[in-house]
Amino acid sequence: MLSVADDSAMRALGARIGAVLAGPARERTLVVLLHGPLGAGKTTFVRGLLQALGYRDRVPSPTYTLAETYALPHGPRVTHLDLYRLADPDELEFLGWRDWLGDPGLLLIEWPDRVPALEGRADLVIHIEVTGDSRQVAIADPAGLTHA
Ligand code: ADP
Ligand code: MG
Repeated sequence: MLSVADDSAMRALGARIGAVLAGPARERTLVVLLHGPLGAGKTTFVRGLLQALGYRDRVPSPTYTLAETYALPHGPRVTHLDLYRLADPDELEFLGWRDWLGDPGLLLIEWPDRVPALEGRADLVIHIEVTGDSRQVAIADPAGLTHA
């Protein structure tokens, strides 16, 4: 478990993980699941990650748009999904996410529990827990072999 005290610490965590994933994401799409309740800091994590990869503009929450894709000049293509409002897992299938997996990129997914099939395709699973004003973050590989 990592203690993540505030918004800027959450961005910094996103930035560090983004830096680690940027290399392998040039080979194929890495899938990162972001679990945690509303207001946990999932979008904040993504903002920090995108900033670290050189993105300078506003990063909106894709709650209503479902997906936002970022083409970074010197980084992998990053797709940010928020499945909170997904009514049916098939809606994600229509986006064609499985077809992206062979291409370079990063797929960052909030509310991944809406689509059970995602858990089996994840490269990194992040759980954010709200504890008072701060957050506890658990990072695991899908097999649960490494915890930080
Ligand atoms: P989510 O996407 O999980 O719903 P957001 O990223 O939108 O959550 O963050 C919700 C609020 O929590 C924002 O005001 C953000 O600044 C704040 N926040 C993010 N990370 C932390 C943290 N580690 N500790 C305290 N507040 C945080
Ligand atoms: Mg969010």
